[in-house]
Order: sequence, then C-alpha cells, then structure tokens
Amino acid sequence: MSLSLRVLGTSAARPTVERNVSSLALIREGETLLFDCGEGTQRQMMRYGITFALDDIFFTHFHGDHVIGAIGLFRTLALQGRTETMRLWGPKGAKKMLNDAVHFGADRIPFPVEIAELEPGQRVARAGYAIVAFAAEHGGAPSLGYALVEEARKGEFNPDLARELNIPEGPLWGKLHKGESVALDDGRVIASSVLVGPPRSGRRVVLTGDTRPCDATVEIALGADVLVHEATFAEEEAERAAETGHSTAREAAEIAARAGVRQLVLTHLSARYSHDPQALLREAREKFENVVVARDGLEVDVPFVQPVVPAV
Ligand SMILES: [Zn+2]
Ligand SMILES: [Zn+2]
Repeated sequence: MSLSLRVLGTSAARPTVERNVSSLALIREGETLLFDCGEGTQRQMMRYGITFALDDIFFTHFHGDHVIGAIGLFRTLALQGRTETMRLWGPKGAKKMLNDAVHFGADRIPFPVEIAELEPGQRVARAGYAIVAFAAEHGGAPSLGYALVEEARKGEFNPDLARELNIPEGPLWGKLHKGESVALDDGRVIASSVLVGPPRSGRRVVLTGDTRPCDATVEIALGADVLVHEATFAEEEAERAAETGHSTAREAAEIAARAGVRQLVLTHLSARYSHDPQALLREAREKFENVVVARDGLEVDVPFVQPVVPAV
C-alpha cells in the first residue's frame, strides 16, 4: 500500500523564480488528494506528473496564495470535458469563496462541484483512512490543518507456525488472519491470536497550512510519520511571524520535537529565503534532527515502519 507526498509549491504569499506558491499532493495507492491550489498549481502538477483525474481538493484557508490556482485548474478541467464530480473542502466560508473561485470567468462548469465546510475535529472517512481537519492559528482567518490517518492494519500472520501446526493452507489461513478461530478436522480448535500478532498502526501524515505553532498540531501529529509544517521566517523575523500568524523554522521544529514525529518537512518560505534556505534549515536542526526544507517537486515516500524486533 503505497503512500507518498509531493510538494508542488513552497513559496509564501507570491511565487519566486525558484518556487511556486502553496500546493501539495498526497498519493495513496493510486488515489490523489490535493491540498491547497495556489496560482500556477496546474503547471506544477504537469511538471511533476500529478494526475488531473483527482476528485478532492482540500483548502487550508482562503488567502490568495492558496486558492487562486483553482480558477485556472477548473478552466482546464472544463476544457478537458471532465464529467466526474469534484469535491472541495475547506474551513468556514468555503461555500462562498470556492464557489466564486471556480466559476470566475467561466460561462459554466460542465461537471458537478460539491463544496463542504469542515469544522476542526471533523473527519472525512474513506476506505482504510480518514482526512481529519484540525484548527490552525493563522491570525483571524478561519484556517484548518489536515491529517491523513490510516486505520490500524491486521496483525501479522505467521505462516511458518501455521505449517508447523498442520493447519492446511487456504481459506482457514484467511479466517485466522481475520481474527476468527477455526476448528480442524482432527478436532483441534485454533485461536486466531496463536498465529496473528497484534494490530499494526497505520501511517499518519499531517499538513499544517499557514499557522502559528500551536497545541492542536502537536496533538494530532503525535507519533506522525511526516509533519509538513509551514516555516515562513527565520528567527531574525520571529516578531513578524507572530504578527502575521506564521511560524519560524525553529518554532516548527519545536512542534515536531514535542509531537515526536519521524520526519519534518518545512515549506511556505518567505521570498527572502527562496534562493538560500540554509538559515531555516540550520535553525530548525538545533531543535529537531530529521528535517528538510522542501523545494518544489520534493517527493517524500511514507513507508510502513517495521515493528522493532526485541533483541533476544
Ligand atoms: Zn500562505
Ligand atoms: Zn495565509
């Protein structure tokens, strides 16, 4: 079951020569979910091989650098003759803002568009995973972060032991793996727990959108595989970060450390760090080791973490 993320734009507020504005794709087993859609996102999708055949776009908030790309993307989808429903998700105000954006400059959109407003804590449940919205703190603007949270997986089946116990391979193995006990022809009854380990946790990827460092992020990112946190400024502009509802790289790293995530990806860089983000990386590393500053096109694979086998 593959899971990866592709960062499509990493610049705050406006594009630069090196970086486009905010958008990120999560790709899980062939299904693509888009998060934010800043100006020029459709070209970034083409450049980095992200399909237009996606059905969900989640918006963190409605500042132009996260939304304006929807206008162009919807023009293109209409020209391509799309017929499938597109579902748009966002915080309070989404219905008006997104309806205006997708109909801007178009006579009609020839495919259904559903727009839903999400509250913090609300889950969009899908087969095997959910997208969970959480409250970001971005000045006064209603803002959400999103977490992709996979369901726990079945425990691992032990085929060697099954053979040793002379349990015939086939449907009985399947039943045991599903948690059922099975009765064998020789009268033995085998409990599932004999052959199947404890359930294994699913993966978790957390995207903050624009935000001050906040407890809600720590809470939802506890033990996450990847945290994508905005880092608009370096410490020299800490005051400005606080004033404008953004985070410094060090603040983002402190959140990652508190949450105990595996990996931190920094994005949404102020234009002044666009060409050389070393200051952001250096300051973040002082608080959290496993961190990268995203560039446009960065791909992060999110594998299942193998359970640690205790030393005998
Ligand atoms: Zn922004
Ligand atoms: Zn913003």
